[in-house]
Amino acid sequence: MSARRGIVILGIFAADTAYKAKRLPRIAETIMGSGFALGPGGKGSNQSIAAAKAGGEVTFISRVGKDPFGEMALSAYKAAGVKANVIQMDEVPTGAAFIFVNEENGDNAIIVAAGAAGLIGVEDVDANRQDIENAAIFMTQLEQPIEAAIYGLSIARAAGVTTILNPAPARSLPDEIYALCDFFAPNEVEAAEIVGHPVETDEQARAAGDLLLRKGVGAAIITLGARGALYHTAGRSEFVPAFSAGKVIDTTGAGDAFLGGFATALSEGRNPVEAVRLGCATAAIAVTRPGTAPAMPMRAEIDALLS
Ligand code: ATP
Repeated sequence: MSARRGIVILGIFAADTAYKAKRLPRIAETIMGSGFALGPGGKGSNQSIAAAKAGGEVTFISRVGKDPFGEMALSAYKAAGVKANVIQMDEVPTGAAFIFVNEENGDNAIIVAAGAAGLIGVEDVDANRQDIENAAIFMTQLEQPIEAAIYGLSIARAAGVTTILNPAPARSLPDEIYALCDFFAPNEVEAAEIVGHPVETDEQARAAGDLLLRKGVGAAIITLGARGALYHTAGRSEFVPAFSAGKVIDTTGAGDAFLGGFATALSEGRNPVEAVRLGCATAAIAVTRPGTAPAMPMRAEIDALLS
């Protein structure tokens, strides 16, 4: 059998529109802001771009609208070399996020309208069944309807494809989902919400990993921000430290960069701990740059940091 290399990612695209102002406007009030930024967002979309730039053979399954934000998404996939199995819907807008940033203290408030991506369903998984079954890796998150995530994981699992779930944003999960995940990869906040206790110390992270193993995941990978990540499975538990690639200027999308690098390394047949290291290196470079998808590093940069 020839070695499978493909990474299939199911998830959403949302255009991030970020507004800076001294405070939120009150009802019926208009205030002047001090800045605006527009960029590609959505966890699945960011992870796809990160994985492709890291050298992965990536297919992204999603939906966008036939509008300028949808075009922005498609051109980002083209530039990064992501195969976009993305439906462009006629009468539904592309997903978009309104991000208010308080310029005084950095506080933020966000409204996400999933738009076309909110209509992703099991039929999108069915339409891409062959690609999923022929892949090395299937990865998804929880920004699109959860039924689609569960269905995708089930199909991948039945075909012997390695499965990764990034359970973000945190939400209550059906018991059946855990056993479908070879790798279950939350950040500390998501892990805490899922296991029901804080995940701040090494001991707490290991305890969270143990609980996730009992729930049925193959391995838990808990990302710990600037501390790195915990790889935790039966018989092996290892903290992989974060790398430093320069001055940290924007950690948004660090988790997506990590997962893009991790999935790529796994797809190349690296062992999971080496893949976590490659994920940490990918994220370490991304946090030295502004934005999310545009901040994702190329493989040569990642290899240079690892060598
Ligand atoms: P976000 O929600 O901001 O996209 P996240 O909360 O999902 O990120 P984190 O746990 O913060 O994810 O970070 C993911 C990985 O990124 C970490 O495991 C680590 O390897 C790397 N990382 C995060 N912050 C830093 C940092 N300041 N310096 C170096 N590496 C970092």
